[in-house]
Amino acid sequence: MATQKYDIVIIGAGHNGLVAATYLAKAGKKVLVLEANAEIGGATASVRVFPDFDAQLSRYAYLVSLFPDKIIQDLKLNFKCLSRRVASYTPYAAQGKNAGLLISRIWDEQTAASFASLEGGEAEMKAWRKFYDEIEQFAGRIAPTMLKPLLSRSQLRKEIGLDPVWDYLIEEPIGQAIFKHFKHDVVRGVVLTDALIGTFTSAYDLQANKCFLYHLIGNGTGEWKVPQGGMGALVRELERVALASGVSILTNSSVTAVQSDEKEVLVSLENGDQFSANYLLSNTAPQVLAKLRGKNPPASLDGSQMKINMLVKQLPRLKSGADPRDAFAGTFHINESFSQLESAYQQAKAGTIPASMPLEIYCHTLTDTSILSPELQQKGFHTLTLFGLHTPAALFDDNHDAQRKLALQLAIDSLNQYLAEPIESVLARSTNGELAIEAKTPRDIEAEVGLPRGNIFHRDLAFPFHEDGEAPSWGVETDDARIFICGAGAIRGGGVSGIPGHNAAMAVLERG
Ligand SMILES: Cc1cc2nc3c(=O)[nH]c(=O)nc-3n(C[C@H](O)[C@H](O)[C@H](O)COP(=O)(O)OP(=O)(O)OC[C@H]3O[C@@H](n4cnc5c(N)ncnc54)[C@H](O)[C@@H]3O)c2cc1C
Repeated sequence: MATQKYDIVIIGAGHNGLVAATYLAKAGKKVLVLEANAEIGGATASVRVFPDFDAQLSRYAYLVSLFPDKIIQDLKLNFKCLSRRVASYTPYAAQGKNAGLLISRIWDEQTAASFASLEGGEAEMKAWRKFYDEIEQFAGRIAPTMLKPLLSRSQLRKEIGLDPVWDYLIEEPIGQAIFKHFKHDVVRGVVLTDALIGTFTSAYDLQANKCFLYHLIGNGTGEWKVPQGGMGALVRELERVALASGVSILTNSSVTAVQSDEKEVLVSLENGDQFSANYLLSNTAPQVLAKLRGKNPPASLDGSQMKINMLVKQLPRLKSGADPRDAFAGTFHINESFSQLESAYQQAKAGTIPASMPLEIYCHTLTDTSILSPELQQKGFHTLTLFGLHTPAALFDDNHDAQRKLALQLAIDSLNQYLAEPIESVLARSTNGELAIEAKTPRDIEAEVGLPRGNIFHRDLAFPFHEDGEAPSWGVETDDARIFICGAGAIRGGGVSGIPGHNAAMAVLERG
């Protein structure tokens, strides 16, 4: 077959590839997207995970914060995210009794009372409000810079103008700041989790600061919302606007090689087909792109999460007596006090799956029932999404299936500590008797959506600026002037954000 020529070829139809494709096609470019899998969407897929039940689960990514409203407006996406009533619930034991810290999304009497019952709670409450007020101001100032060329470290610091906050968020390990601001191990842990989601690191490493920042600046508020209709709803909308703008998308088209010279980029598929383009955008991880170009892949941390998806007949009751409709509506933290998180990190680093696995759970269907069929809604079914921390890919390199089974059991045991009835008793059961629960290790995620070592951000997150003295950029450029990164592995990529897709499109359009 003759080589077909495009203005731009994009490797990968993840949400970022689709965002980039649509911006470019709207600007008049001829764009082709090549996707290895039969389905588009990458890590933002909704799937009928349990065939006997009509429930569309967000199999990998599940909450949205970083996706700017501007992209939704620019691309005219019919996609909405819904606020959760509750921010988080953290069960803990006090004087031999089961208690829980419930934090509403909007500060209220219930939250104040919940803080007040903690030891030293009044001071923690004040510290909490001050800390998050400062961060919200910071978020409001940094968010608008995300869709512009990168500023340098000192330009961004000046633009934000909150030097003390900059210092504790960017310059000093976040673990130190958390220790300074808060006294209670549980409260410290609730704050710290945002620095560790998807990142295998200690609270005292600046890598945790980067993760923390991306979890708190989305859209200028840092609020994590529920995608209405599940993550698949975002993908369907992106596909609709891409096709309407004239983008061509080929699925089952795994790219196996990329070559470039001063005139064009040549892309080869597994089946031998070839395409040429003026520019190539890679929605795959930088490590994958390096291999396709025959270069040495850059180093990166292992992905380090267990993702466990469940369908339950009803929400399980809690030992603490809290209403499960409150506790599971936000992020339900387990084994995530500061000291438990640090100790789990050390255990995993030494090669053991943490026995007290830190994890968090949330229930999509308490905010949005539309992912369930009317019949399941009427019967009171719910989906539960569990995200386990400090379970790096390396722990699954030997005896993968046995290690997955062990990790799943440890996660279930951790959860069951706080339930008045074991989770197994409320899980739906298929006609062949199987429980409606699936577990994905980092290595499963690598095999299914190509994230190297299951790293959910494609590679280690970077601060959203370039160092003083470095050349201006959009954070999407490579060492080849014709090749750009339009996926999570770009600077300011990572998460469901569309930001690197937008920025790569802008970088290409600047070149004409
Ligand atoms: C378990 C899990 C939970 C997460 N939870 C959240 C969350 O709640 N909120 C959030 O914001 N983020 C979350 N993330 C992170 C987020 O999902 C990703 O960072 C984001 O989806 C990456 O999007 P992307 O479009 O850049 O790349 P991807 O979604 O990774 O898409 C890349 C695409 O490229 C394709 N591809 C790869 N190699 C080739 C090739 N050789 N040829 C052709 N195609 C190829 C892949 O098949 C894939 O479709 C989570 C990730 C995981 C794995």
